[in-house]
Amino acid sequence: MEAQAVAQIVAQLIQVAYIAAAVLFILSLKALSSPATARRGMFLAEAGMLFAVIGTLLDQRIVEYQWIIVGFVVGSAIGAPMAIFMPMTAMPQRIALSHAFGALAAVLVGVVKYNHELSLGAPPSWGFMAAIGFEVLFGALTITGSLMAFGKLQELIRGAPITYKGQNVVNIALFFGTLGLFGYLIFNPTATNLFYAMIGLGLVIGVFIVMPIGGADMPVVVSLLNSYAGLAASATGFAIDNKVLIIAGALDGASGFFLSILMSRAMNRSFTNVLFGAVGAAPAAATGGATEQRTVVRYTPEDATFLLENAQSIIIVPGYGMAVAQAQHILAELGDLLSETGAQVRYAIHPVAGRMPGHMNVLLAEADVSYDALLEMDHINDDFANTDAVIVVGANDVVNPSARYKKDSPLYGMPILNADKARNIIILKRSLKPGFAGEDNELFYDPKTMMVFGDAKQTLTHMVQQVKKKVPA
Ligand code: NDP
Repeated sequence: MEAQAVAQIVAQLIQVAYIAAAVLFILSLKALSSPATARRGMFLAEAGMLFAVIGTLLDQRIVEYQWIIVGFVVGSAIGAPMAIFMPMTAMPQRIALSHAFGALAAVLVGVVKYNHELSLGAPPSWGFMAAIGFEVLFGALTITGSLMAFGKLQELIRGAPITYKGQNVVNIALFFGTLGLFGYLIFNPTATNLFYAMIGLGLVIGVFIVMPIGGADMPVVVSLLNSYAGLAASATGFAIDNKVLIIAGALDGASGFFLSILMSRAMNRSFTNVLFGAVGAAPAAATGGATEQRTVVRYTPEDATFLLENAQSIIIVPGYGMAVAQAQHILAELGDLLSETGAQVRYAIHPVAGRMPGHMNVLLAEADVSYDALLEMDHINDDFANTDAVIVVGANDVVNPSARYKKDSPLYGMPILNADKARNIIILKRSLKPGFAGEDNELFYDPKTMMVFGDAKQTLTHMVQQVKKKVPA
């Protein structure tokens, strides 16, 4: 067969692979919208990515493969250990780092493509410059913004909002100045120095926009940066004429944007505030722990078990501490045992419990808790008042009543689970230390509350042993 015919077949195969990838990406997003189908959604996305990669590797414009192989090996050497060894509790930081790398790739591709176009002699078209400018500008601010988010979540830099007088003016001036440069470059594409100046300013903007945002709002920021990385990728697709990149980037950009809005709503934050304002607060570690001087009565796991054995209705509220203690399996076992004794046992899932969207769902699904037993905040919040006992397992901010009324609290306005309305509250945690937002929790001092101190897994193990003594296997 002639080379031309082969080339034609390969070109068609690429298109088929890209269409398959696009369809799989869309189906995966649909499946990811429910915990019951989320795992399938991940497989669909992975299959889609495989098609996209294969299609791209078949591209006739690839001159040689050696650098691609080097990139593949280096990327895998970094990515695989990150995926295997990074704990689930560090997932938001890991995602922030991935965005930084993704954006770095987009910027590097943009710079190379720009120089390649210049080397062809004729000045690049305005359409090309618009795509490439968008790509490197959003890419650059995503790199530094994501690294800042990583630093704040990992507590390498102060989680508290860093603000100064006139900050908004500086940020807006910087943003519009950079936008001006972008506009100028579209019509004067050979101004190479300005092109690099725009990338430099993009990097500065990334730092400046994340600086005034507090640690507690970092999840929304990470999701927003995900959206920016997607938009940069989509622009890359236009610049290098790669359709699957345009589609995948647009899906990523749109879903990240919607997720940011939904998360802002769940935390009752104004979306524009998260975009521009100094909101949120330092993580607990940065504030140095509890300052509260009131005392609480310390209960034993046996006391808590006794109470639960006599409860007809029980709601379990899992939080970040459950993830830290890896207590999901033993918690599920306790839930099952209590159900067997005739109690109604349900799990209340706060949208920002843990450290990433869906964190609790993932862990409880891993422990085989049925999806029907997991109820979202809006569906269960009215039921707390008629519930005999609530077990709060390593959750803190998501049940902190000060979110309702304490105006100077970083949690103020965030809807919380109404654990305080239940007849009895059992809280499993190690100390009186505050949660992520650094805000003391008055629920600990409620007369209805039993504080059972200790690692959640150990306490729950004791409790399970107690219940088992009464419920013969
Ligand atoms: P919190 O961070 O408010 O509290 C977790 C509690 O778990 C701590 O007070 C800690 O207390 C306890 N804990 C830690 N380790 C253990 C252990 N081994 N055994 C028992 N308890 C333990 O968690 P929540 O889930 O209530 O709230 C989530 C917070 O994180 C919110 O402020 C949210 O905005 C923020 N956030 C959410 C993200 C998301 O997308 N879900 C992402 C990033 C932040 P002690 O040290 O005394 O044991």
